[in-house]
Amino acid sequence: MTQRYETVIGLEVHAQLTTKTKIFCGCSTEFGQTPNSQTCPVCLALPGALPVLNQKAVELAIRTGLAINCQIAPRSIFARKNYFYPDLPKGYQISQFELPVCGHGWLDIDLENGERKRIGITRAHMEEDAGKLVHGDTPETSGNSLVDLNRACTPLLEIVSEPDMRSANEAIAYLKKLHQIVVYLDVCDGNLEEGSFRCDANISVRPYGQEELGTRAELKNINSFRFIKQAIEYEVERQIDLIEGGGKVVQETRLFDSNTGMTRSMRGKEDAHDYRYFPDPDLVPLVISPEWIEEVRATLPELPEAKRTRFVEELGLTAYDAEVLAADRELADYFDACVALAKDAKSCANWIMGDILRKLKETDSTIADTPVSPALLTGLLARIADNTISGKMAKTVFEKMWQNGQTADQIIDKEGLKQVTDTGAIESLVDEVIAANPNQVAEYLGGKDKLIGFFVGKVMQASQGKANPGMVNQLLKKKLQGGS
Ligand code: ADP
Ligand code: MG
Ligand code: ZN
Repeated sequence: MTQRYETVIGLEVHAQLTTKTKIFCGCSTEFGQTPNSQTCPVCLALPGALPVLNQKAVELAIRTGLAINCQIAPRSIFARKNYFYPDLPKGYQISQFELPVCGHGWLDIDLENGERKRIGITRAHMEEDAGKLVHGDTPETSGNSLVDLNRACTPLLEIVSEPDMRSANEAIAYLKKLHQIVVYLDVCDGNLEEGSFRCDANISVRPYGQEELGTRAELKNINSFRFIKQAIEYEVERQIDLIEGGGKVVQETRLFDSNTGMTRSMRGKEDAHDYRYFPDPDLVPLVISPEWIEEVRATLPELPEAKRTRFVEELGLTAYDAEVLAADRELADYFDACVALAKDAKSCANWIMGDILRKLKETDSTIADTPVSPALLTGLLARIADNTISGKMAKTVFEKMWQNGQTADQIIDKEGLKQVTDTGAIESLVDEVIAANPNQVAEYLGGKDKLIGFFVGKVMQASQGKANPGMVNQLLKKKLQGGS
């Protein structure tokens, strides 16, 4: 049954821009402060108060637009979107409608089958956030709703995709990619739980082969990638069942309940004309010069995709390693700093992917908190490369380094961990081990080659781990063959 219908998804993402102050007034945007402490006549919508556009918010919008391949409009217009709700004191939201600041963009996503798919971005426009309603949960407030306007007038960039996604997985791939980009750009902190990155998913189904789109339902504000996937999957099934049962999908806004995994109707969905948009007479058109756009373009960081390509093509990493290292901007910067010092990109990648990430996980910290700086890590790599210590001993040095922040040389010196590479010294240990284990020698000579590991282990043990394992191996083989 399911196969007869094609899923169609378009996403609207609201990214809260990382300005210090609100979009039309000077109030702070800091999260989690005392309710209504960050308000003024403008964001409280007192009569006569006039909005003034925050230039930084525009800069962040341009920055995002460029990174998602949009054209930046030389002239865009702020409009009033009229609706009544207690969290919106003006009775309208200042947004952009006919002339948004960014348009005609796209993002490429990687599909599970290894192919890429281009998802169109219709537009990205600036708008102000609404306040928050707090539904009373104390004896005094129970049954009442309280209004907190700290969030009112916080700058948002709403990024609207074309209805180009065909499955929940494609939607998640798009969202994760967009999320990674806005965080990389520092235009949004990306915190889904605090609502800094919110997604509305528009979903419809249609019989395969039908050109016309089906009627959509809009799922609002779901605050984790996992829930978005669940919500889409549930909603697709619901719509198909409805149609199969002879019913019709109605255009509406639905809410996802993460406890039940189901969506339920919240309200009928307005069409644009219901909002009676019109240009806001309090704000002049937003004019962006080509020079400003180029200025912003010049400050764009290397984006994750370009980093991944460089890590693979120029530094010889595997696609997987490149993916992990490029996913987080600070981790990628750390890796680049190591490569600049050590040249050997592969061993840098191995240590970061292995020991560094393991330690960060164990200590529940991020690369910004690592006690092992690129200089310390590459100092350790140099001592492995020049045979001062074995790879195994390096793990011990690394542990100590993590604890006390000392250099590899300091630790090797203090702990006497220097590898023994003196042939004579290793030879005498080899002789001792051979002499002490005549039975195993006989077995080895009888063809049980695997016993070489046993001998290497014994010699390494006798040297307290300090003998160069390669040399031990070589000398053992020579002596055992020689039958001495
Ligand atoms: P609004 O939801 O504010 O009315 P739009 O009409 O611009 O805004 O549509 C919002 C989103 O809905 C876009 O991402 C668009 O791709 C998507 N969309 C529109 N029609 C459909 C449909 N029939 N099925 C799935 N997504 C759709
Ligand atoms: Mg919508
Ligand atoms: Zn204010």
